[in-house]
Amino acid sequence: YKANLDRAAPLLAKLKDEGIGHFIDGKVVPAISGATFETKSPIDNALLAKVARGNAEDIDRAATSAALAFKSWRDMAPAMRRKLLHRVADAIEAHADDIAVLECVDTGQAYRFMAKAAIRAAENFRFFADKCTEARDGQSTPSDEHWNISTRVPIGPVGVITPWNTPFMLSTWKIAPALAAGCTVVHKPAEWSPVTAQWLAKLAKDAGIPDGVLNTVHGFGEEAGKALTEHSAIKAIGFVGESSTGSAIMAQGAPTLKRVHFELGGKNPVIVFDDADLERALDAVVFMIYSLNGERCTSSSRLLVQQSIAETFTAKLAARVRALKVGHPLDPATEIGPLIHERHLAKVCSYVDIARQDGAIIAVGGKPFAGPGGGHYVEPTLVTGASQTMRVAQEEVFGPFLTVIPFRDEADAIAIANDVQYGLTGYVWTGDMGRALRVADALEAGMIWLNSENVRHLPTPFGGMKASGIGRDGGDYSFDFYMETKHVSLAR
Ligand code: NAD
Repeated sequence: YKANLDRAAPLLAKLKDEGIGHFIDGKVVPAISGATFETKSPIDNALLAKVARGNAEDIDRAATSAALAFKSWRDMAPAMRRKLLHRVADAIEAHADDIAVLECVDTGQAYRFMAKAAIRAAENFRFFADKCTEARDGQSTPSDEHWNISTRVPIGPVGVITPWNTPFMLSTWKIAPALAAGCTVVHKPAEWSPVTAQWLAKLAKDAGIPDGVLNTVHGFGEEAGKALTEHSAIKAIGFVGESSTGSAIMAQGAPTLKRVHFELGGKNPVIVFDDADLERALDAVVFMIYSLNGERCTSSSRLLVQQSIAETFTAKLAARVRALKVGHPLDPATEIGPLIHERHLAKVCSYVDIARQDGAIIAVGGKPFAGPGGGHYVEPTLVTGASQTMRVAQEEVFGPFLTVIPFRDEADAIAIANDVQYGLTGYVWTGDMGRALRVADALEAGMIWLNSENVRHLPTPFGGMKASGIGRDGGDYSFDFYMETKHVSLAR
C-alpha cells in the first residue's frame, strides 16, 4: 500500500504542476481557446490536474495532423510497423506500475485489477503488432476470364472515443488494431478519467511512432467528442460507451457517412442451474460483478438462479458480499474502491430507492459511506426478491450492484435472460453440457462463457448484440472495421 502511495506521489505532483494538454502532431499543446476543465480524484475529490478543454478547432487541428500523417504510416513496411508497436508494448510494460497507480487515483478502481489492466494494455499492442504483417492479406478467386484478387487497405484517419472505466487498457484495445491496420488516430478520452491517455501518446512517440499518427484531444463528449464524429477527414469512429451515446454518434456521423463500431452497455445475465459446480459458480458470480467496482461492461449484473437452489445460493452469496473489502484503491487488499464520480455514485444509489419502490429487497449494502479519503464509496449491494419487469432487472446500473432473479427451468431462464434491451455477454453454469450449448445458442448476446468467468482471448470476437453494440473487435475482426476490402480483377 505504502509502495503504491510512494509511487503515485511524485507522479501526481508532476501532473498537478504541468496539467494535461492535448497531444497533437507529436507535441503537447493547450486548447486553442485556452480553456481547461478540472479533473478530480474519486478518492477524496482532490484536484488532480487542469485539463485542456478541446472544441471543434482542436479536433480540426488533430484530424488534419492525422490526415497528413496517414499516407506515410499506411505505406510503412508492415515489419517496421510491427517493430514500432512492439516498442510501444515494451514502453507500456516498463511503466505499467506508474500507469496502474495513476489509473487507481483517477478512476477509483482497485490496484489489484488495474495492475493487470496495464499489463493487458501492453498485450493488446503486442498482439496487434504481430498482426501488422497480415493486415493487408486478401484472397485470390480466379474465374474463367480474370485473375481476381481481394486485398485490404486501411480506411484512413479514425476517431476513437473511450469511456472512463479501465480507460488506459480500453483505449489500447481500439488504438492498437487501428495503428496495426495502418490507420492514424485521433483519440478523445473520457472527461472523467483523462490522466493516462497522455501517457499512451507520449510513450508511443518515445517508441518511435511518427508525429501525427496518434493524437489525443481532451474535452467533453458533446463538444470535442461530437466534433470528432462530425469531422470530414475522419473516416470511422470506434466508440466504447453508453448505448444512448452510440445513438447520438450514429446521428452525428450520418452527414459524413461515418463507419461506426460500437461497444455499448450491458445487463448481462449469469445463469446458475442446480446441477452446476456451485462453489465455482459462486466465485464467478462474485467476481463478475464486484471486481472493477462493477464498472465493467461485461459484468454479470443479473444473477438468474434456479428456484430449487435460490435460497441457499443467495444466502452464501450474501455472506460473500458482506465480506468484500471496500477501501483505498491503491491498497492491494482492496476489492472495491470509490466510484468514479459523485454523479455516478448518486446514480448507483438511486437504484437502491428504485429497487425498494418496485418491491425488491436490499439484502446487502446499498449505502454510501465515507471510506478512506471520504470519496465516492458505496457498500457493495445485493438485491433480492426482484422480478424481471423491475427497473433493477432491466437497466444498467454500472456499479457493485447485483440483482437476483429466480427461474423455474431452462426455458424460463432463457426467456428472462433475453428479456432486456441489451445483449453483450452471458454466463452459464451447469453440469449438463448439452444444456450449456443449447442455452448458449438461445441467448441473445455476443459473447457467452460456459462454466467460466469472463476471460479475454485476443483472437476471438468481442462485441455485443441488440443495444450492446455493432461490430466485433479482436483478431482479424478488428481489421474488418479499420480496413476497406478492395477487389482487383486482371483479364487473363
Ligand atoms: P459515455 O457514453 O457517457 O461516454 C463515453 C465517451 O463518449 C466519453 O469519452 C464521452 O466524452 C463521449 N461522448 C459523450 N457524448 C458524446 C457525443 N455526443 N458525441 C461524441 N462523444 C460523446 O459512457 P461512460 O459513462 O464514459 O462509460 C460507461 C458506459 O460504457 C457503460 O454503459 C458501459 O457499459 C459502456 N462500456 C461498454 C464496453 C463494451 O465493450 N461494450 C466497455 C466499457 C464500457
